[in-house]
This record gives sequence, C-alpha cells and structure tokens, in this order.
Amino acid sequence: MKHLSIRYISDVDFRVKLDKILSEYKSGQYSSILFHIYSGVNDEKLLMSISGKIGDLFETDNIVGSISAGEIKNGRLMDRGVLVSVMMFESAEIKVFRFENASGSEQDIGKQIRSIAASTTDCKALELMLPGTNLHTRLLFEEVSRCRRGIQVFGGYAGGHSMESSEHFVFDRTGLYGDLIFLITYAGAELHVSVDKSVGWQTLGVPFSVTKADENRLITVDGRPAAELYQKYMQIETDENFAEATFEFPLMAELGDEELLRHTISVDDDGSLILAGYVTEGMKIYLCYGAPAEIVKRVDARLLEICEFRPQAILLYSCSVRKSFWEDFVNVEMMPFQKIAETAGFHTWGEINRDAKGNVLEYNITLLSIAMREGPAEGDVKHVHVDDSVLKGQASLIKRLTKLVYATTTELHRAYTDLSEMNDKLKEMAEHDGLTGVLNRRSIEEKLTAAFNSEDKTPNGLLMLDIDFFKKVNDTYGHKVGDDTLTLTAKIMSDSVKDIEGAYVGRWGGEEFMLLVPGYDADKAFELSEQIRTTVEQSDYGAAGHITVSLGSISFDGSEDLTSIYTSLDDALYKAKNSGRNKCCKAEPLKKPKAKKRTAKKK
Ligand code: GH3
Ligand code: MG
Ligand code: MG
Repeated sequence: MKHLSIRYISDVDFRVKLDKILSEYKSGQYSSILFHIYSGVNDEKLLMSISGKIGDLFETDNIVGSISAGEIKNGRLMDRGVLVSVMMFESAEIKVFRFENASGSEQDIGKQIRSIAASTTDCKALELMLPGTNLHTRLLFEEVSRCRRGIQVFGGYAGGHSMESSEHFVFDRTGLYGDLIFLITYAGAELHVSVDKSVGWQTLGVPFSVTKADENRLITVDGRPAAELYQKYMQIETDENFAEATFEFPLMAELGDEELLRHTISVDDDGSLILAGYVTEGMKIYLCYGAPAEIVKRVDARLLEICEFRPQAILLYSCSVRKSFWEDFVNVEMMPFQKIAETAGFHTWGEINRDAKGNVLEYNITLLSIAMREGPAEGDVKHVHVDDSVLKGQASLIKRLTKLVYATTTELHRAYTDLSEMNDKLKEMAEHDGLTGVLNRRSIEEKLTAAFNSEDKTPNGLLMLDIDFFKKVNDTYGHKVGDDTLTLTAKIMSDSVKDIEGAYVGRWGGEEFMLLVPGYDADKAFELSEQIRTTVEQSDYGAAGHITVSLGSISFDGSEDLTSIYTSLDDALYKAKNSGRNKCCKAEPLKKPKAKKRTAKKK
C-alpha cells in the first residue's frame, strides 16, 4: 500500500498533485483508494470544491472529511490548512458508509455497523469519524464493542478551533454534516492494522468520587459541585476562561483497568462541568497533569511496537489538548512516526479505540496511532525514538514537581483523615458520659432546652430515674459492680426508646438519669416510666442480683416555665421514693403562665 498527503495551497497546485497520484493509481496496481480530508478551515465552498474534484477525478465516494483542530502532515503540525491523505491499497477493499440523522439512532446505527462488520470478509478494522457534539456515542460504542474481537476499531471526533456547533462537522462532496457518522471498513486477507493509544498524563494527589453525573455532565464530586475541585485545588474560577484554564489539568476517571482522561469543555452556573466524554456515578476521578517524561516514555513504547510492525502507512489522531499542552513542542512526539512511514492525521475532540477487553471507548488527551501494512512484515527493523533533548530541562523539573505534589497531598490526606477521625472521637467524648455511654449532663440539658424552646408545640415526655439504695450496691459488692449497675440501667433506658427518633437519654449525676421523648403526653410518659421500672425489676444485674428504680414523669410543650418543670419532676421522683421506692409517680400538671392579652396599639 501507499500513503501520500497533499496540503491544499491553490486549485492549480492541487490539480497537478492529484493528476500525479491519479496516473499512479491508474497503473492497475491498486484495488482501493481512500481519501481523508482534515480541514482546519471552516469554508464550505472550498471543502465542497476539494472533495468534488477528488470524487470526479478518481470516480470514488471513498472520501471522508472532518473539520480539525490541527492537521498533521508528515508528523508535523500544519495548523489551519486543508490536508488530504491518500491511501492506495494493493489488495485490500475499503468501503465508506454514511449514517445520516444519527442523533437519537445511535444504538440502531451501532447494530447496523455490527452487521456490516460481520458480513465483511476479512474485516480488519473499522474507522468511525463523527462530529464532536450532540451524539450519545456510548450507545453506539456498546453495540460496536460486540464486533469480533480481532477487528480493530479507531476513529476521531471532528471539531475545529472553538466550541461553536458550526465548528463540529464531518463532510463529503454532498455537504457538511453536524449529525452524520462515517464508517470506513478496512478489509483484506493481506491487510494488517495495529492501533494503540499513548497517554502519559499523571494523577495529582488523592482520588475523588463522582457522586452525580449524567453522560458527559459531571454534576457533583464528593457531594460538592464539580467545579469546586478546580477552585479549591487550582484556584481556577468559573469564569469564561474556565475551560481554557483547566485544559492542562484534565480529570482522569477509572473504569476498571482503563484510565479515561476527560477535559472540560465548559462549566455551568450550578458548578457542573461539561466534559469531552462521559463519566458515571461511583467512578473514582483524579486531577491530572501532563508529565513530559512520562509522555515521552509512553510514546517511545508505542514507537517500538510500530517499528516491529513495519507499517507502510500511519495515521495519527491526537487530542487537541495535547496540542495546547505541548505548544511549540507538539512535533516532538509526532515526528518520529514519519521516520517509520508516511504519517498524516489531525487533532481531534476525542479519540476512539478498543480496550484490551474489546470495549470501544471514547478517550481524550491520547495520541492514537494507527499503523497499516499489506503483506508480510518485511525488511530490517529500524528503531526510532522521541528526541526529547529539547524537553529535558522542563521535563525533569515538572517530573519532580508532580512527584512532590503527589507525595505531599497523600501525606496531607492521611493527616486529614486521622484528624477528622480524632475530631469525631473528641466530639463523642465531649458529649457523652464516659461510663454509661449515654449523653452527659451538659448535652442532655442542651437537648431539653432545645425541645423546650422549639417552635413545635407538641408535648415532650420527660422521665427522671434514680436507682434505689444504690449506695448499698457499692457498699456490698464494690464500686465496679456499682458501675456495671449504672451501665445496665442506662442501657435499659436507651433500649426502651431506641426506635423513637429524637429521644435522648442522659446521665444527670451519680445514679440519676433523664429521658426525653418527643410527642409523649403525661399519660404516655408515665406508661413508659412503668415499663422501664418493670424491665429493671425483672433484669438480672449479675453480681448485684436484682435492683429496683424509682421514676418521676412529666410532660411539657414549651409554654411553661423551665425551672418549674425540673422542680415538679424532682417532686414526683421524691414522692416515688417516699412511697416505698420501686415506684413511678406522675408530676402534678403544670400551671401555664397566663397568655398576654393582645391589645391593639393606638396610632
Ligand atoms: P436512694 O434509694 O434514696 O436513692 O438511695 P441511694 O443509696 O441510691 O442514694 P444515695 O444518694 O445515698 O447514694 C448514691 C450513691 O451513688 C453514692 C455514690 O457513691 C454512688 N455513685 C455516684 N456516682 C457513682 C459512680 O459513678 N459509680 C459508682 N459505683 N457509684 C457512684
Ligand atoms: Mg440519688
Ligand atoms: Mg438512689
């Protein structure tokens, strides 16, 4: 096979170059031809004229055009031009299929692609070229993923230099399309295709969890609006420069073993991020940074593979973020490919590739390299590498800095986790009684005051419990048995209200406890005190044997006077003690303060 590329300069020049290719093509040596047009120029008339000329001259419809964010000719960036890649095959058969009005029919198109692949003899690869907006490609890819595992799948999302939908289209001689999917089938017994991606972006710091997402909209992360990640860790504010500012710090989402890099296209007022690819709830995500040394390492590994493969043609589909990341150095990672075989391609808004499990996925920030060959791998292997001498200074500095950031954030995260655990423990200790585990005096008093001051005027039941002859337990069996007696009594009280929301038990002092239960009137409070009294009486207190308790009960709704509640409750308990202990006593109904008369104010 043969791969050539032409940069469109003028009609005359273009025609001369096409004629030359045509005479070679007509030599009878070739079975198929395929034209890719990558255009950094959004000019319908020009693109129709170019694709029309090719179609007429070569009498072919094998023309797939896409708008691009940078064209790659001979492994070098050729920005804002029109590039035509011409692939001539000796025995392979190449077909182009077009699916119009794709939006809403993604799954159906995926099924059609599956059946085309299944009925294509010796199908080696499928290429998908589609506009970088509006399509639910996940549904499409899920279907395409079910194609035979041996079939390579690759492709790119077409997008120009801006977010405008007019800058996202594919085309052929019939027009520009914002809603059309191209499929190219590469088939032939002698055809060999190798596709893989190189990334090299490194995670920064600790992982976050996607808590709310909808396709490519990342709504919340760890329960907070997603944009806060960038505000908090990168000091990037959600203004009109947000997408550009975050470009160099994409997110990496983990999907099993796969690392899906996602850059932000825009941010919404609610802080959700529109990403150049989907994420799903529960995914772990990281902030990432391009580490030049790592990127070079990954590209080198892929170059080695491609050298061994001995291709006759290479396509590079590289994410537009790589272009902005490398700036003046972008050719460093692309030029070595040209040393192996003629290399053409474009900067995309998303790269399509199949993972090791056969899943077709959308990637961002990758350099997708597609190597092709017809016939056996012949000739000497000549190894090429990225020449990173120009990057050395920058690379080592950034490498060290990313390491430093990683190490410090990990340590900080660990310290933060320890601290917040410690804080929880301290809070628990500050609010609870160390012996019995119920609320301490301060906390139960706070709960009582809050219930008393609450706007809600439904009644609250309040019980006060005192262990009978507790001093005797201590004196007879020792302090430890006394402690156990207190603990079990507190547990019986807590258990009695464990299913009631808003009920609290607290240690009032020594062997006295309070129980607050919302929604209980005087009768219900009294019933509950009876129930606790009987449970205690029937419980086995171990070394202490059987013990009894006395209780006073009351009900309040906040319209009373707080001190009188305590006094009446205390009186009720005193009465229970004085009438023989192991008793419950209801407090006298409280006198409510008289309601103030409302008098109309004179003007
Ligand atoms: P009454 O039936 O009239 O309530 O008699 P009582 O013995 O229960 O009452 P008294 O107030 O005379 O005794 C309470 C005892 O509780 C005295 C004190 O030593 C003991 N006590 C207070 N706090 C603790 C504690 O944390 N652990 C133990 N083991 N005993 C405690
Ligand atoms: Mg007492
Ligand atoms: Mg007592």
